[in-house]
Amino acid sequence: MTCQELRESVCRANLELVRRGLVIGTWGNASGIDRAAGVVAIKPSGVGYAELTPEKIVLLDLDGKVLEGTLRPSSDTPTHLALYRAWNELGGVVHTHSVYATIFAQASRSIPCFGTTHADHFHGTIPVTRSLTPEETAGEYEANTGKVIVEAFSGEEGRHPDPISMPATLVAHHGPFTWGRDAHDAVENSAVLEIVAQMAFGSIQIAPGLQPLHEFLLDKHYLRKHGSNSYYGQK
Ligand SMILES: [Zn+2]
Repeated sequence: MTCQELRESVCRANLELVRRGLVIGTWGNASGIDRAAGVVAIKPSGVGYAELTPEKIVLLDLDGKVLEGTLRPSSDTPTHLALYRAWNELGGVVHTHSVYATIFAQASRSIPCFGTTHADHFHGTIPVTRSLTPEETAGEYEANTGKVIVEAFSGEEGRHPDPISMPATLVAHHGPFTWGRDAHDAVENSAVLEIVAQMAFGSIQIAPGLQPLHEFLLDKHYLRKHGSNSYYGQK
């Protein structure tokens, strides 16, 4: 992929966030990475989506050094970079303040898997991060936001989700981050997360105390689409 192709792809992904109603104002951003070249492309800071063109997309290296572009990169760039550095499999990252996912994030509540719509896409509870400390907030806030996301996925194996089967998390008091094979895959995960959050919100309202889906049904739905023996869709 050339730098121009990466810029165009990331620009389209950012516009797709608006088209799908996931971003209001400038509250959101999508990025993509060319692993072979070590180049990250991200939305410029504070630029309205109506004026966004591929030429305005900023190119950086994994340390945050701007390689090409005259505009400042998104203020959330250090969060995106922390995720790319932690997980080699990631090709794209998206951050939004989509309403229902943000409602759960603001309440510091994870999203349990209540049904097969969720299970088809996310393998279990969508985690919420811990709160940042006053020191982490006063310091490198955006980089520390990336740190707490990675933390939500680390620890004893089997007890925490892995970032491939769980391509989303909620940052406490803030909002959702998703990721994927590329920027467009991360946008898709953001869109599904928002629908799943809305459904969970409604389910809890009509059935307070609702229990998560049985594990056997969760596994059935997730693995028939994503497991090594998946059989859903066309070959
Ligand atoms: Zn934000």
